[in-house]
Amino acid sequence: PIVLGIESSCDETGAGLVRDGRLLGQAVASSMDEHARFGGVVPEIASRAHLHALGPVIRQALDEAGLGLSDVDAVAVTTGPGLSGALQVGVAGAKSIAYALGVPLHGVHHLAGHVAADTLEHGPLPNPCVVLVVSGGHTSLLLVRDLARDPIVHLGDTLDDAAGECFDKVARVFGLPYPGGPAIDRAARVGDPRAVPFPRPLPGSYDFSFSGLKTAAARWAEGRAGRELPVADGAASLQEAVADVLTRRAMAACREYGVGTLVVVGGVAANSRVRSLAEERCRAAGIALRVPPLRLCTDNGAMIAAVGDLLVRAGAEPAPLDVSIDPSAPLEYATLHPVAAGT
Ligand code: ATP
Ligand code: MG
Ligand code: FE
Repeated sequence: PIVLGIESSCDETGAGLVRDGRLLGQAVASSMDEHARFGGVVPEIASRAHLHALGPVIRQALDEAGLGLSDVDAVAVTTGPGLSGALQVGVAGAKSIAYALGVPLHGVHHLAGHVAADTLEHGPLPNPCVVLVVSGGHTSLLLVRDLARDPIVHLGDTLDDAAGECFDKVARVFGLPYPGGPAIDRAARVGDPRAVPFPRPLPGSYDFSFSGLKTAAARWAEGRAGRELPVADGAASLQEAVADVLTRRAMAACREYGVGTLVVVGGVAANSRVRSLAEERCRAAGIALRVPPLRLCTDNGAMIAAVGDLLVRAGAEPAPLDVSIDPSAPLEYATLHPVAAGT
């Protein structure tokens, strides 16, 4: 079956087509530039941009795949978590298409999408695997079994800010452009990661805390007011602290649960130091590391189609056509509506 996936939870409008675990085509439009002067995503602007972009993005993904809309056998859409107005646009579009074509609709958890993104590059996930989800709004350490059928076990979560949020907020303090994560990464290239001893909170836990790190970075910058700020050193040190904490927890989880594969996903998986430190530590521990390519790390529709494809093939019950969004959906299952999966 050919599954159309639609993503609109934040500022990216994405569409992707997946058949049997393979990506056939995808397109993404971002309203990021329109938010830049506000220093963060403005929900109304994001919703309006989704409205304009959704049709063209679906058309572009179909063109790339060499398919027509009538070839679609099922539709998957992000129903949460995310901005409610933004989610509404994607869900309304997905419902219309599913209704018009008479095909099943599946509601997908956005973070399950981030997890499944890796399958499009590296094939099915081993069961079990440890997954580190690091994105703009989430930082979670998960034990994942069968993504389409089994509940997702949370080993740890952030107690305050997400890792991406920490990068974005500190970048502002450092006077770096929006979005902050990629800007910190670029600035860090010429910095000394040992220049500033930023804290590594909650040692020995699987949970994360990044608000103290954010405050420490702000204090460090304030302490240099009036003098030129060595931004590269600050950025490199911050990135080192985040990468150290993230990968240390992930390695400990693999060890404790005897799991041979670590998967790192979400926008922050695009960070060069997170990637290189995860590589170093996995190699040393004999653990296989899987990280999706950059274009599949940040929000896209292909990852939602990937989850839809798994759900369809697992015989999951489709969502009703009046399914509603859930802006703060907890990650329990890949689908927000796990109605008697056909196991
Ligand atoms: P969520 O998935 O939690 O709902 P989101 O969809 O906004 O949030 P993503 O699109 O997955 O998040 O990721 C965006 C985040 O990734 C932003 O915080 C951004 O700064 C961060 N990011 C992107 N590239 C990099 C990078 N190279 N280094 C660090 N952070 C990065
Ligand atoms: Mg985004
Ligand atoms: Fe995301």
